[in-house]
Amino acid sequence: MAVLIPAAGMGTRLGEDQPKAFVEVGGVTLLERSVAAARDSGVVDEIIVAVPETNTGTAHRLVPDARIVVGGAQRSDSVRAALAVTDAVLILVHDAARALTPPSLFADVVAELSEGTPAVVPGTSVADTLKRVDAAAGVIDTVDRDMLRAIQTPQGFRAEVLRGAHAGAGDATDDAGLVEAAGFAVKVIPGDAMAFKVTTPFDLRLARLLA
Ligand code: C5P
Repeated sequence: MAVLIPAAGMGTRLGEDQPKAFVEVGGVTLLERSVAAARDSGVVDEIIVAVPETNTGTAHRLVPDARIVVGGAQRSDSVRAALAVTDAVLILVHDAARALTPPSLFADVVAELSEGTPAVVPGTSVADTLKRVDAAAGVIDTVDRDMLRAIQTPQGFRAEVLRGAHAGAGDATDDAGLVEAAGFAVKVIPGDAMAFKVTTPFDLRLARLLA
C-alpha cells in the first residue's frame, strides 16, 4: 500500500512566508504530521511526497522515510509526479494540509478498499444551509444538504483506476473528481472532523489549538 502526499502547494490563501506543508503547528510541520499519521496507521508501507523544487532538501531532512519527488503547478500534477514512481496495486492520496487526520481514517479507507471497492473517499455531512448563487451573489436556490458530503482525504484507489483517471492532463480539487470524470464509481465512507484541510489563517489557528 502506497500513500502519495501532495505537499507542493504554495498556500497562497494561508499567507505564510513558506509553502503550506512546511508551516509548523506546535513545532512540527504539516508535512511531518501527515507523514506520521500515514505511518502510524500501520496500513502503509510506501510513502511518496511531492514538494516544491526549492524544498526537496528540507523534505528529505524532515521525513527521511519518505520518497521525495518534485510537484507541479496544479495539485493533479503533483499527484501524477508521485504516481509515476510507484508500482503499488492499492494507492492512497492524502493532502499534506490535512495534518491532524487520525491514523484510524487511513485504516478505514484501506479496509473498504480491501473489500474490493475500487475508489473510496471519506466524507462528512454538511452543517450549514447551502445555497446556489449567481455571479452577482443572488440566491438561485437552496440545495438539499442531506444529499451532500464534504469530501476529505485520504482517498483510496485501485492503482489502475487512479492511473486511468490521471491519464489525461485534467485537474480537479481531488483525485476522486478525476476518477468520477473517467466514469468510475466512487464510494463515500464516514470521514472525521479532524481531517479538515488547513487552508486559511483561521484553519491554522484551529490546528494550533487542537494540536
Ligand atoms: O491548495 P489546497 O490546500 O487545496 O491543496 C491541497 C493539497 O495539495 C496540499 O497539501 C497542497 O500542498 C497540495 N498541492 C500540491 N501541488 C500543487 C497544489 C497543491 O501538491 N500544485
